[in-house]
Amino acid sequence: MAQVHLRSVVKKYGGLQVVHAINLDIADGEFVVLVGPSGCGKSTTLRMIAGLEDISGGEVLIGDRVVNDLPPRERNLAMVFQNYALYPHMSVRENLGFSLKIAKRSQSEIDRAVDDAAEILSLTPLLDRKPGQLSGGQRQRVAMGRAIVRHPDVFLFDEPLSNLDAKLRTQMRVEIKKLHQRLKSTIVYVTHDQVEAMTLADRIVIMRDGHIEQIGTPLEVFERPNTTFVATFIGSPP
Ligand code: ADP
Ligand code: MG
Repeated sequence: MAQVHLRSVVKKYGGLQVVHAINLDIADGEFVVLVGPSGCGKSTTLRMIAGLEDISGGEVLIGDRVVNDLPPRERNLAMVFQNYALYPHMSVRENLGFSLKIAKRSQSEIDRAVDDAAEILSLTPLLDRKPGQLSGGQRQRVAMGRAIVRHPDVFLFDEPLSNLDAKLRTQMRVEIKKLHQRLKSTIVYVTHDQVEAMTLADRIVIMRDGHIEQIGTPLEVFERPNTTFVATFIGSPP
């Protein structure tokens, strides 16, 4: 695990500024959720932490390293997206181990990491199946497993549950919470769903139009919203 710090982080696309000098300090092992309406800059912020987008100003730190110029693979983080693409022709075991194989880890090391991840995510009985033989929730667990095997310092989630139906989404929230308690990893999680944010977060970061409107524990934000925007957003039905 590691801390993550954003210091006056700016993102511009051409002349358009979509993230305005964001400051955010995330502690070791903390579960932070970025929430806000569509287009407010959540994914862009996450992708700057991941190194998938260049930053236009400021600094991103992971642990005590400024990572602005480091490519994603050198940041020791793992990202889980909404449209997780599993390799359709590979078994669950091969899907889980693939990134380690590319990194030229030994087969025994790969087997151990895959078995551990499968155990944590209740995938052990499914290791020989192909993605086409799995339910949506099982596929999402494989996507998380692919992140876990690499023992990243930081997990980044971008709306990982938004393709699932309501019932499965509720189940997966519990799974993700358990995963966090078990691994004690630092998690930055993006969603537009305020109920999901309130359920999962140690602290929630409410974004609007490229800036941070309020940061606090779910209870603080709920009981003492700083602005009418926060009150309306948190109080509106899911
Ligand atoms: P969110 O994830 O909160 O829905 P995004 O971070 O995806 O929002 O987008 C923030 C803003 O940046 C939006 O106005 C979006 O249209 C714009 N944007 C995102 N990606 C690009 C891009 N590659 N080029 C230009 N504008 C972009
Ligand atoms: Mg997004």
